[in-house]
Amino acid sequence: MTPDQKGQLRELPAVGDLLHHDTVRGWLDSAPRSSVVRALQRAVESLRGRILKGQCNHPVDADTVVLLAEDLLTEQREPALQRVINATGIVIHTGLGRAPLCEEAVEAIARAAGGYCNLEFDLDTGRRSDRLERIGQRLCRLTGAEGAMVVNNNAAATLLILQTLAKDREVIVSRGELVEIGGSYRLPDIMVAGGAVLREVGTTNRTHLSDYEAAISDRTAILMRVHASNYRVVGFTCRPPLEQIVELAHRHGLPVVDDLGSGALFDLARLNLPPEPCVADSLAAGTDLVCFSADKLLGGPQGGIIVGRRNLLDRIAANPLARCCRVDKLTLLALEATLQHYEDVDGAVRTVPVLAMLTEATDSLADRARTLCDRLQTALPDEHFYVCSDITYAGGGALPARELPTVVVQWRPATRTVESVAAALRHATVPVVARIREDAICFDLRTVRPEDYQDLIAAAASAAMAESRGLGTED
Ligand SMILES: *Cc1c(COP(=O)(O)O)cnc(C)c1O
Repeated sequence: MTPDQKGQLRELPAVGDLLHHDTVRGWLDSAPRSSVVRALQRAVESLRGRILKGQCNHPVDADTVVLLAEDLLTEQREPALQRVINATGIVIHTGLGRAPLCEEAVEAIARAAGGYCNLEFDLDTGRRSDRLERIGQRLCRLTGAEGAMVVNNNAAATLLILQTLAKDREVIVSRGELVEIGGSYRLPDIMVAGGAVLREVGTTNRTHLSDYEAAISDRTAILMRVHASNYRVVGFTCRPPLEQIVELAHRHGLPVVDDLGSGALFDLARLNLPPEPCVADSLAAGTDLVCFSADKLLGGPQGGIIVGRRNLLDRIAANPLARCCRVDKLTLLALEATLQHYEDVDGAVRTVPVLAMLTEATDSLADRARTLCDRLQTALPDEHFYVCSDITYAGGGALPARELPTVVVQWRPATRTVESVAAALRHATVPVVARIREDAICFDLRTVRPEDYQDLIAAAASAAMAESRGLGTED
């Protein structure tokens, strides 16, 4: 340690003294003493760390500590989860909470969640009921399945299926389908967690029906198909049609499970979107169980849906693990309100936000981009904004590797780096998460909605003005 560093450490004020600082005394009128003390302690610790790393080239007097503690106190008071504007253009963005809920789902939660609801109570008989019965009937109606079940997410659905039907036995999967989704979901690991033995067949690019057939033995429990959610195998490829896998499995008395990932409830080709396997088609091909997420293409709350044969679903529901994956009333309220829109597909395209965003025409995006661009330019006359066409992706493992045309407003900051502007946008009152491309900030209209404009413009204005404080809380 240099003598300078020793001197700086000696100068660091004590928390007890800082409590008498005029500014800090003011905080104590509105914040609990324990929060104020914690913010001061963190500020002192952070400065001590910087001094020890030799990164502190400013004074360490009381005012400096108080300024830093003020940021920390504000941060401590803010809820960890808050609304942000998704300007990335990725519609199903897992980092930003996947599907925004439709209005009716939000209203259903607002109406019922603050009080009691008939979650497991039959209003006709006055007796206890099953929380999944009604939503199960609706899912059966929408997909043509015999039975249905809702759990916490699709990973839980897969785990439950494997643990119930394939514990200590083999599950046959093509090598081309051993998917890893972001955030630690890897199919082989779920197999291990479910106590099932993975039996890989075929090669990465080509798997034949005869590969499945050769792997079937008295240890086999399931033939499984998995949607290649975030990649595509292209070129010299083949895999047998689902009908043939089903025919083979059934000939051996085995069930077929199809993990569809996104799970479109109707044929997206109707919307001029790239084809995505649809739940009803998989069931019509004879699949015994299909599982998919509720918060990807379906556009609902986080959830996992299993549909298929009732006898298999009864076994899964009787598994003690099912209780560990049980969904709460908020999920069911939101999911039911979302599914109601699917009774009329054309209506769903307008009212389920994920579908509305994915299908908005580029003309409409361009119109909106011009409006947003003009408003930004008026608010920030010294900056330069342009409208450009661009490409984006659905995200969330839906329509993998398919480019979607989009329109963005680009901002090339006049004096600051794009990284510092992007960081300032993320720290605005309503944070904005933008895309950076070619030294420009891009606001993608595919995910920025008219109700976001005002907050986005306010964020841009604060980002354009923000000085780098030099005293951030991050090193
Ligand atoms: C997304 C996905 C999962 C995981 O679903 P969650 O609902 O996020 O748990 C599993 N399998 C496939 C093929 C997926 O695309």
